[in-house]
Amino acid sequence: MEVTCTGCSLLCEDIKIIVENGRIVKDFGSCIVGNEKLRMAFSPERFKEYLAVEDGSLKRLSGDEMAEKVAEMLKSSRKPLLYGWCNSTCEAISLGLKLAGKLNAYFDGPLSLYYGYAIMAAREKGFYKTTLDDVRENADHIIFWGANPAETFHRHMSKFSVFPRGLKAERGVESRILTVVDVRKTRTVAHNRLILQPGEDAALMEALTYMVETGQYPSESKLSLPLRRIASLVRDLKNSSFVAIFYGLGLLGSGKAEENLSALHRLTDALEKAGVRCVAMPLPGHYNSLGFIETCLKETGHPYALNFTPEGVKHSPAETSVVPILVKGEADAALIVSSNPLASLPFKAAQTLASLPFAALDYVETLTVKHAKYRVPVAISGLETGGTALRLDGVEMKLNPAVEPPEGILSDEEFLRKVYENL
Ligand code: SF4
Repeated sequence: MEVTCTGCSLLCEDIKIIVENGRIVKDFGSCIVGNEKLRMAFSPERFKEYLAVEDGSLKRLSGDEMAEKVAEMLKSSRKPLLYGWCNSTCEAISLGLKLAGKLNAYFDGPLSLYYGYAIMAAREKGFYKTTLDDVRENADHIIFWGANPAETFHRHMSKFSVFPRGLKAERGVESRILTVVDVRKTRTVAHNRLILQPGEDAALMEALTYMVETGQYPSESKLSLPLRRIASLVRDLKNSSFVAIFYGLGLLGSGKAEENLSALHRLTDALEKAGVRCVAMPLPGHYNSLGFIETCLKETGHPYALNFTPEGVKHSPAETSVVPILVKGEADAALIVSSNPLASLPFKAAQTLASLPFAALDYVETLTVKHAKYRVPVAISGLETGGTALRLDGVEMKLNPAVEPPEGILSDEEFLRKVYENL
């Protein structure tokens, strides 16, 4: 049977598994990350018990008892933070928004740190009209900018962007130009590899844009790369018919996300004007990052960093996203859904979260789960529970469960419904 892997936002729908007596005995097609997720389902390390910290020790609860306790904690909170959601199905996110509405809570996820802004910018540029299947069939120049898919999105190159043959890439990798721009040499294969000094991305994009538009060298350049290397890339770009740019934290995590994205979009506009089709898509890791944004937009009109109030939903990322909320002490309890903020938030925000009463839902015992007052094991999306998610290009994918979760373990959606009923 086939399952959809939720190991990353590629949502590979072609993973074949052989199930005997309710257990996976063999799988084909998954990468090392996806395989680890399948392996975890039947691992002795699997997190399977509902645990509450009471009077300094851990107490085992049933699922129903845990839902009551979590509802009690949220009800007695002045202003809870409901955080995570990008590794949950659209249905669970939708239920989370309902919970947030009932509790007048903050609602946010890791996207408010980096990728949310980029996804919204790509959305406004219309880049999600292009799918990865379109890239596979038609793109003849692939650029990875500040991204290393060989070690993070293992099947991006083999399933979509580099190696497969396509209508206009009849010889697969031999029909495409591969360009990698980064601050270090990575394992991602490239014909053109441009190694920049940190912080030079926008300047390189501006130089490329100028040369695409004018055909001239810029009068001065402070770039560490020689202009002849940049001119060679410009020639390759102008000789391409469809350039697909995929970018990652190298562009977004350098404190210059807005400047870099503006420069990137000026470059894509310049190429379009020069008759070269061009799209630029971010590579968020969490499997349902696009689903998080689209569900929030559909149900509230805002993409992330939501503050539910009696007067309506407010969105002002400088005040209503996770870091300022925690650093300013605005939340007094939290519900963390399939996310590990204690391992990923800036120190001050993580320290504040750790000091709050909070519940954490996950299928593995992460650092965040280990520090939670209420530790809630949940089923693995796509393998043990179904639903809907959006791939990194916005294509809707159906998740169909293939095996049963461990006894007594619910999906995050089922558990959240119980919490909601207890409010
Ligand atoms: S590339 Fe991502 S979705 Fe595909 S098998 Fe690997 S982890 Fe799973």
